[in-house]
Amino acid sequence: MAVHQFDAVIVGAGGAGLMAALQASQSARIAVLSKLYPTRSHTGTAQGGIGAALGNLETDTWEWHMFDTVKGGDYLVDQDAAEIMCREAVDTVYELEHMGLPFSRTPDGKIAQRPFGGHTKEFGKAPVRRSCYAADRTGHMILQTLYQQCIKQGVTFFDEYHVVDLLTRDGAACGVVAVEIATGDLHVFHAKAVLFATGGCGRMYKITSNALTLTGDGMAVVGRRGIPLEDMEFFQFHPTGIYKMGILITEGARGEGGILRNGKGERFMEKYTPTLKDLAPRDMVSRAIFREVREGRGIDGKDYVHLDLTHLDPKVIREKLPDITDFVETYLGIDPSRAPIPIQPTAHYAMGGIPTNARAEVVADEKNTVFPGLYAAGECACVSVHGANRLGTNSLVDIIVFGRRGGKQVGEFVKKASFTPLPEKPLEQTEARFAALKREGGGESVFEIRKDLQEEMMDKASVFRTEPDLTKMLQIIGDLKSRYSKIHVKDRGTGYNMELLEAFELGCLLDLAQATVTSALARQESRGAHYREDFPKRDDANWLKHTLAKINGQRVTLSYKPVSITKFQPQERKY
Ligand SMILES: Cc1cc2nc3c(=O)[nH]c(=O)nc-3n(C[C@H](O)[C@H](O)[C@H](O)COP(=O)(O)OP(=O)(O)OC[C@H]3O[C@@H](n4cnc5c(N)ncnc54)[C@H](O)[C@@H]3O)c2cc1C
Repeated sequence: MAVHQFDAVIVGAGGAGLMAALQASQSARIAVLSKLYPTRSHTGTAQGGIGAALGNLETDTWEWHMFDTVKGGDYLVDQDAAEIMCREAVDTVYELEHMGLPFSRTPDGKIAQRPFGGHTKEFGKAPVRRSCYAADRTGHMILQTLYQQCIKQGVTFFDEYHVVDLLTRDGAACGVVAVEIATGDLHVFHAKAVLFATGGCGRMYKITSNALTLTGDGMAVVGRRGIPLEDMEFFQFHPTGIYKMGILITEGARGEGGILRNGKGERFMEKYTPTLKDLAPRDMVSRAIFREVREGRGIDGKDYVHLDLTHLDPKVIREKLPDITDFVETYLGIDPSRAPIPIQPTAHYAMGGIPTNARAEVVADEKNTVFPGLYAAGECACVSVHGANRLGTNSLVDIIVFGRRGGKQVGEFVKKASFTPLPEKPLEQTEARFAALKREGGGESVFEIRKDLQEEMMDKASVFRTEPDLTKMLQIIGDLKSRYSKIHVKDRGTGYNMELLEAFELGCLLDLAQATVTSALARQESRGAHYREDFPKRDDANWLKHTLAKINGQRVTLSYKPVSITKFQPQERKY
């Protein structure tokens, strides 16, 4: 067994992991472990932009940004954390600029900004230009910039190391177990602190914008060690995925003036959100699309609508949306300046995840008790700055602001902390898990079980939910788990055994789907992305609280904790 020792280990090399690494490595010996080569992380696909109240084109303030974030999140946002995020967004964007990030520019050389869903001026009066962007390749530029800075600073990377377990002892984190993908060897990383930055879990749904690798490993690994996952019932569907494929068409397309049209050619968003129209928050736009389709106004009566850019100046489309122009041409053979784009809502973003405070320390119970040595940042974490529904551009802000805070905190922590000894048998759980997956016998393949999970989740736990559907879904997950326990991995090799690792990832998705559906079934109200047709109203008296879902072997048990409300009292959400 190979054992490595570092002050701290960061799991994940997306925007959150790299930002944390940059900070922590200034004062500590750290290692970054990533199952992907760092620049392949999903952050690199982010298109539309990063929100910060720079006020480069019109007056803007962090208070307005905070208000929009809280209202967008349907008041489930922890407002102390949202305040920190919106205040620090401004400095972090300038920090990225000073690192060399090539933002698009205004004619006088400032960082360019464009409107985005739910971002407004004067507490909801009208859309505001807040999203800082680098054409429609903002995430790519963030990831490349941060990776270059990490290389410059000499951060130690373990690329293509797949983390499969968190090690704890006496109630403190002390390391992780990882599979070296090229050889199949197991490695133990012994550390004073572990920070998870493993991204989202959109692959539990069939139609998703998320990369194949977004299987929620970090959330599951931490959850299996007894830390409850927060607000998992809130999963965002982005309104504009390419029909049947789920590939994302950025909200920036509507920010630049694109509009949604139904089968009759009508601009239907006016009916639902008269002030913000097509730039309403995503949960509302996704529901409006589903309603149009249900009421027979999809295109040719089918389950999709059109995103229309044909009225825009072709130069704007080419210069400000070059990548999505390319996607649409490649995947659909359509020139977006001449023909509308067929779109449907696509599973996009996990608002829930590993519960943390604003220092990115993981908190393990209803009283927010810190779990020593354990940190999380980015999409795998729940701070919670997005509440029940994230606004566009707020994830890139989240990963940068809380990645930075987490990295700083880790740097401070390891200065004072000593190493907690490793557990006696650090590989015990991992070996048992892999032995079960490799057992001889005639079970099903990963593919069959994953396909059923994704189709059923799409059908029963997506934009609209009901008690019968969610109850059925829980039974289905139970059946899928028993099929999973007899899974058959054909590849008997060690090096690059992706079949085995995909089986591990599927196990994570099953646990997370169970946490999601259990939490969703219990929450008898509609809030943000969680819409219950049988309970269509928000119910602050009973449900203005965060869910905590604990994974106990085959069961998930729930508890709740209060929301932090500082500046903005809950109001009706109208746009
Ligand atoms: C197509 C698309 C467009 C988007 N556009 C925007 C946008 O314009 N603005 C915005 O604010 N947000 C956008 N988002 C959301 C945003 O990009 C993500 O939420 C954010 O980038 C997540 O960053 P992260 O660092 O948390 O994780 P990621 O960038 O997903 O990185 C996860 C890292 O964890 C590693 N990892 C995962 N599991 C393991 C494991 N078991 N072992 C080792 N390593 C592991 C991976 O290798 C990877 O390095 C978009 C998302 C998508 C999918």
